[in-house]
Amino acid sequence: MLKSNLETVKENIRKACERAGRREEEVQLIAVSKTKPVSDIMEVYSCGQRLFGENKVQEMCSKMDELPADISWHLIGHLQTNKVKYITCRTTLVHSVDSLHLAEAISREAVKKGVSVPVLIEVNIAEEESKFGVKAQDLEKLVEQASLLPGIKIQGLMTIAPYVEDPEENRPIFRKLKQLSVDIDRKKFHNVTMNALSMGMTNDYEVAVEEGATFVRVGTAIFGARNYGTGEI
Ligand SMILES: *Cc1c(COP(=O)(O)O)cnc(C)c1O
Repeated sequence: MLKSNLETVKENIRKACERAGRREEEVQLIAVSKTKPVSDIMEVYSCGQRLFGENKVQEMCSKMDELPADISWHLIGHLQTNKVKYITCRTTLVHSVDSLHLAEAISREAVKKGVSVPVLIEVNIAEEESKFGVKAQDLEKLVEQASLLPGIKIQGLMTIAPYVEDPEENRPIFRKLKQLSVDIDRKKFHNVTMNALSMGMTNDYEVAVEEGATFVRVGTAIFGARNYGTGEI
């Protein structure tokens, strides 16, 4: 079941690349395994998937300990500064830096541990009240300030688009994130690259790929619906 889900998502990514004239190697699929048991992750792992995303740092760390060492773990959810200490050198990429305060906390922890933490800056393009992320107009200043901190390395941008019935509605959001990354790239900030663009989820990853995503974060389409009980996204 999970195997055929994974194959379908990969095939859809391939087709979206083809439509957009992109090479499939430009897009990496992150299997978002939050709330899902280790057994489900192993099933997807055994189909060859090596990138997994979690939105809580402690859940990610406990799964890291139980699962094969060749998995790349991406932290995609909002990170509170008091949880930064749990970030380890095994976190491949933190997708959700959205304030200087958080960037400084990651920097301090990275310096203390003698590591460099690759991060993306989360942008709230749609300016939804309920979402985290820096506003587009404040992005450049945040990138400039965070780029000066030791121990963190900005590699691109991330956004969470609104939930919409028709994924086409999110196309302008993905296009805007891409444009912002091109604009920032032109500024040539020291120690900043804009190679990564993390956008697109179950509902809209094909549109995101067409608009230049390098990481799509897909949970439900691979693992099935999540059961929370708390109403959290
Ligand atoms: C849960 C989550 C996803 C995956 O969502 P699906 O709709 O299940 O694909 C992607 N990105 C972030 C930041 C998430 O928290």
